Amino acid sequence: MTVVQPPYRRVLLKISGEAFCPPGGFGLQREPLDRIAGEIAETAALGVQIAVVCGGGNYLRGANFADELGLDRATADYMGMLATVLNSLALQEALERHGREARVQSALPISRIGEPFDRRRSLRHLAKGRVVLLAAGTGNPHVTTDSCAALRAAELRAELLLKATKVDGVYDADPARNPHAQMYAHVTYDEVIDRRLRVMDISATELCQQYAIPVVVFNLFRPGVLKRVVLGEPLGTRVGPAK
Ligand code: UDP
Repeated sequence: MTVVQPPYRRVLLKISGEAFCPPGGFGLQREPLDRIAGEIAETAALGVQIAVVCGGGNYLRGANFADELGLDRATADYMGMLATVLNSLALQEALERHGREARVQSALPISRIGEPFDRRRSLRHLAKGRVVLLAAGTGNPHVTTDSCAALRAAELRAELLLKATKVDGVYDADPARNPHAQMYAHVTYDEVIDRRLRVMDISATELCQQYAIPVVVFNLFRPGVLKRVVLGEPLGTRVGPAK
């Protein structure tokens, strides 16, 4: 039997909060949580080191919440960071139910429930095959978990940033509204920035460009896709330098 070796040693997976509940839903639900944990555990079993950044949009996004409740933006953003902690804690346990050890490391001090983020310690966990869940984003307001994902990918020297979404990749128009929208197989960092394609925050894209970290945007709702992308199949949209 030939054992397929993944081309990556270490990847960073950014999971948008909305992946943890059915479309239009709120909070965490068991079925998506278990399914995502199963996919990550199966992919880690290939021998790939996986660090995960969870978003918090299934609970709240600071920008909207500040407006709705008349809160200071920084306060709403801290609340958003706490939402990412909720997702990370749940995913940690779900991963362990699938037999994969995991550790939450938080950018905000929450020492009773997770370790503080520590790059060298993160790398040690990863080397031991543990999935590291990077909670509370960057620990700073006014940015999103996309920026956190790019920063940590650079810091942990991940070879690939996997951006899990609810669509198959990056399109030239909104596929939910335009049935003729075309998906790109490959776009350059400059195209994403210049055409304002909705991949990640511009600053996150710029950071990936600066450190030459390729990004693959893919659909986490399709079973088995995470593992296939990590094995090098050309799925989703790849963002990188000019081909
Ligand atoms: N957030 C923040 N700083 C960070 C990461 C996140 O302030 O470094 C806050 C921000 O309010 C954001 C919310 O946490 O809207 C949830 O994260 P995000 O919107 O990135 O979640 P996603 O859309 O990926 O589910």
